[in-house]
This record gives sequence, structure tokens and C-alpha cells, in this order.
Amino acid sequence: MTSYTNSFPDKNISMHSTWKQQPIKAAMTVNAWQAMLHHCRSDMPNEACGVLTCSHSSEMINQRQNGILSVDQIYPISNTAEHANQNFRFDPNDWITILYRIQKNRQSLVGIYHSHPSTNPLPSLADLEGMQYVPAVSYWIVSFPHLEQPDVQPYWYNRKTFTPLMLAKIGV
Ligand SMILES: [Zn+2]
Repeated sequence: MTSYTNSFPDKNISMHSTWKQQPIKAAMTVNAWQAMLHHCRSDMPNEACGVLTCSHSSEMINQRQNGILSVDQIYPISNTAEHANQNFRFDPNDWITILYRIQKNRQSLVGIYHSHPSTNPLPSLADLEGMQYVPAVSYWIVSFPHLEQPDVQPYWYNRKTFTPLMLAKIGV
């Protein structure tokens, strides 16, 4: 079986992330949650990918102090992988544009998401190999055991290890 590797335009994508230490929990607003699921469904049968951000509000800063990684917006990125149903590759132009928008909107990059349209939300070999230059970042996998009932699992990735994070709540 051929294996594919995910890839990012920046080798060290987590350089842009504001989270350097493992959070205790992860949380997401309803709007971000729905936008992420919508993106993953509409890119089927291919894997969808993108980044997760939070705004620099005082509420978010409080949550950060309590170890809650909060997401309030998503930015879809085109998957330009040749076998996009088996792995993902961030489109370099989208990546540059989105980094600029995140900065302009005074947001922080807090994670990466992608979908597994037909497998469970466990990191694959492509996921592991794609992260070889990445020190640490939150990593969310959206899978679809049933189209209406997605299974979303956030992880904290650090030193070649994915640790599942508890999804605290949707709608903060
Ligand atoms: Zn994957």
C-alpha cells in the first residue's frame, strides 16, 4: 500500500501558533464548529483542511490562563494534494493570504484541522509524517462515521506524539 504524506508550505507551521504548551481542554464556538463541519462535508470525498484561530479578547486570554484552548473562527485552506482523498497539502497561496488575514484581524492561530471522510478520527501515517518538522500544535481530526453524525477529536501534538484533548464544549 502506498502511503502519502501531508505537507505544509511552512515547514515549521507551529511557529505561527500562540499555543506552545499542552492545553487541558479544547473548546469551540458554535459558528466555528458549524463552519468546520460544513467545509469538511462539502469537500467530500476529499480530505478538507484548514486552520483554527481565536481572537485576542480578554475572555480568550482568561481561558488561556485556565488551559482552555478556544477556537472562535476557522479558515479553510485548499487541499492541493495529488491524492486528496488520502491526505492533504496546504495550498501555499491560501496559506500566505490567511496568515495575513489572521494578523490583520488580530487573531491567534491555535490549531490545524482536517477531515477523514471515510476513516476514524485517529492520526494516520500521513498525519504523523506530515508533522515531522512541527514541534507542537493542536491538531483536530473530523471524521464521518455517519454523514449527519461527525466524530471530532482534537489532539495536542508534541514531539511525534498525538495526545487526545477533551472537547470541553461547543458554544463558548
Ligand atoms: Zn489525517
